Amino acid sequence: MKTTATIPFRRGEKIRRDLGETVDVGTLRIMLMHASPPADEVMLQEGYTGYAQCPWCGHVGWASGLNVTRPVDIVCGHCGRYFRA
Ligand SMILES: [Zn+2]
Repeated sequence: MKTTATIPFRRGEKIRRDLGETVDVGTLRIMLMHASPPADEVMLQEGYTGYAQCPWCGHVGWASGLNVTRPVDIVCGHCGRYFRA
């Protein structure tokens, strides 16, 4: 049984919309509430699927479409705020 503490994840960086930073809605990903991949998750989507951590609330969740070469914008499924990871 793995725990999120032992699984590598990408630490997010806050997107400060209150400071005028913009979110790229075209590539926006949703980080799931779950700390494990959905059972029906398949690797059909472009990019890398794995864990990311919300810098606002510290939630670690499963996110698809992470990019190994370039950070993508993500909305946290727990607190609903935006970050980049
Ligand atoms: Zn959050």
